[in-house]
Amino acid sequence: MKLDRRRFLKLSAASVGAVAFGSRAAALRAPWAVPRKWYAGEVRTVFSYCENCFWKCGIAVKVEGGRVRKIDGQKQNPKSRGRLCPRGQAGVAQLYDPDRLKRPLIRIEGSRRGEGKYREASWEEALDYVAERMLKIKERYGPEAVAWFGHGSGDSWFVEYLPAAWGSPNAAKPAVSICTAPRETASQWTFGRPVGGHEPVDWTESRYIVLIGHHIGEDTHNTQLQDFAEALRRGAKLVVVDPRFSTAASKAHRWLPIKPGTDLALLLAWIHVLIKEDLYDRDYVQKYTVGFEELAVHSNKHTPEWAEKITEIPAETIRAVAREMAAAKPRAVLPPGRHTVWYGDDTQRMRAVYILNALLGNYGVPGGFYLAKPPYLEKYPHPPFPLEPAAGGCSGSSGGAEEVPEGFKPRADKGKFFAKTTAIQELIEPMLSGEPYPIRGLVCYGTNLFHSIPNVPRTKKALEKLDLYVAIDVLPQEHVMWADVILPECTYLERYDDLAAIAHKTPFIELRQPAVEPLWDTKPGWWIARELGLRLGLEKYFPWKDIEEYLDTRLQLIGSSLEELKQKGTLIQKGRPYLKDWERRHRNPFKTPSGKIELYSQTFAEHGLDPLPDYTPPMPVPEGFYRLLYGRTPVHSFAKTQNNWVLMELKAENEVWIHREEGRKLGLRHGEYVWLENDAGVREGPVRVRLTERIRHDCVYLVHGFGHKGRGLRLAYGRGASDNALQTRYVLDPISGGAALRNNFVKVVKGAARPRLKRIGQLARERRL
Ligand code: SF4
Repeated sequence: MKLDRRRFLKLSAASVGAVAFGSRAAALRAPWAVPRKWYAGEVRTVFSYCENCFWKCGIAVKVEGGRVRKIDGQKQNPKSRGRLCPRGQAGVAQLYDPDRLKRPLIRIEGSRRGEGKYREASWEEALDYVAERMLKIKERYGPEAVAWFGHGSGDSWFVEYLPAAWGSPNAAKPAVSICTAPRETASQWTFGRPVGGHEPVDWTESRYIVLIGHHIGEDTHNTQLQDFAEALRRGAKLVVVDPRFSTAASKAHRWLPIKPGTDLALLLAWIHVLIKEDLYDRDYVQKYTVGFEELAVHSNKHTPEWAEKITEIPAETIRAVAREMAAAKPRAVLPPGRHTVWYGDDTQRMRAVYILNALLGNYGVPGGFYLAKPPYLEKYPHPPFPLEPAAGGCSGSSGGAEEVPEGFKPRADKGKFFAKTTAIQELIEPMLSGEPYPIRGLVCYGTNLFHSIPNVPRTKKALEKLDLYVAIDVLPQEHVMWADVILPECTYLERYDDLAAIAHKTPFIELRQPAVEPLWDTKPGWWIARELGLRLGLEKYFPWKDIEEYLDTRLQLIGSSLEELKQKGTLIQKGRPYLKDWERRHRNPFKTPSGKIELYSQTFAEHGLDPLPDYTPPMPVPEGFYRLLYGRTPVHSFAKTQNNWVLMELKAENEVWIHREEGRKLGLRHGEYVWLENDAGVREGPVRVRLTERIRHDCVYLVHGFGHKGRGLRLAYGRGASDNALQTRYVLDPISGGAALRNNFVKVVKGAARPRLKRIGQLARERRL
């Protein structure tokens, strides 16, 4: 077919609209230009999985002449299905980022932590240095005095394998207590099953979707977004509960702009209507649940009129939504959000979400939740570790064994809350106070300490007190430049990692393998862990000589091989997604004490906790302040991608969303720069003002991940404001250990100047491939 200029322009515009999330994409500059061929020689395809968020999409990396040129989705992979989000495609720019850490660094003697004065070292010297100091700490205080923090799929070596071999229970991931702990704890004690890393929501089969605290489309988890779009295409109704008119709200048939902190009241009112009007799934409740009688009595007081006063959502709307949900049951679903640490009652809020789903009869049923199953995979055989891995993760709660073996101490945060999940923020305190016992060393893998853990001044003080701080990372993030020793890891496109075992409708295993050799003097995490392990006297846990042998053995044990996975990229196994699949095999999926879905939790009652969720008001907003809300953007992941020029061309800074009328009262202009100051006096910014009707009057909103202060990040530095810097307060959820972050309040301070920084376009041109 001949493509004339008019038709070409039309097609270009359509495809740009489908992929571009910002207006400044390089692709938009000259849409009429016929794209040049991006390759000249032979193209090799390497299967791997993406690391630009934690969804782990299977990727097909195109390598030409020893250089990665392009990254596509693996067609056969259930997470990507041949498609990637902008971050996945922008991985090439991360690989060739000239700001990357290039060789091991040791802090110059006599300099202060945070001063950023380093000398180059060989890997031998750097690893010997770390091992020698770790062994000293162990000798004086015990192995538990070294804590291990990790974030990203390579973290398994540094928060699971090595700490368990070394004998420290103090291993943690921010993905637990600063993210999913409440939803996982609630799920364990309601359904006896975790939610897991990939939320098992049967989106495409659903006919009525209620999003409460769920920013789908802004957190861009590829598969989920594809399924969500498909559900809407098939005609599913959508209700979005959010103080902000989010991207998802713009697709909804109802937007409920709830007063922040009152979601639990709304959920309880919906439970009330379903029970009072006899709209729940009676057969399902009778067959699969316990505690309905107690719930019915408890819910008497939670009328829509009661909830209206709290939530500011009209009682009639509350009733109408409950009735619509019921009419669509069991194909009506309230998916769990991901970041669930809000106000301190978060496990109870998530229990209410699950109870509602159970009343709709949708758990284990098409259109509700499917039952995700992990793939069959064996461990590499090695002698038993002295301790169980304790870090857990967003794929379920952990926390190590109940009983601590003789000679070892329990985790330093134990006893502060009910669940076994690890709480990274609670491991900062023992670094300062020495209670319940001292933590004197920290090995930090890919965890952005100053953009994830609340109360940054406290974290800095804790780092100052340590005997040893080791950072393993790819980029010179600000916290990295506080370390005594910096060990530069190569990127995910240059290394093997452990196998990714994904619990899913059809469980599967993914391989990460290098597409190209590591640049500069960087090394893969597995190599760093093994070399450190050997120096720490842990040889018996590293019987494998290299990662290929390790991976091949694991795969051979399940009848496959490394060679097979290199060719296929993904190994898909069979699932048992619905209750009827389990019943056919006479198996029970509910691993609760009663063996049923627990609407009423006897275990909670026995531990002095509310056996049924009840509403408690959030901390009130002080006069003159706004509640600080925060969220995601589709083109960045956490605070990890702001030095990627492709993504920065799409979104270079965050803005503070303020309701237009509030802006008028404060005399603000759209686009001017301001400071944000919290009620503890911490000032952050400058940040650009976005005046909008898309947010309630009583809160302001920031996208997370901006406001970098590490000068080595030449693109990210000084752009936007950090929400984490303003989160100096958190409330500990007494059940899950989650650090509830929406208890911070800010005021807007005028008079900030626009930061004098080079334009992103210019910086991007300087580093374009
Ligand atoms: S959703 Fe995007 S960033 Fe996340 S793994 Fe998939 S392609 Fe990568």
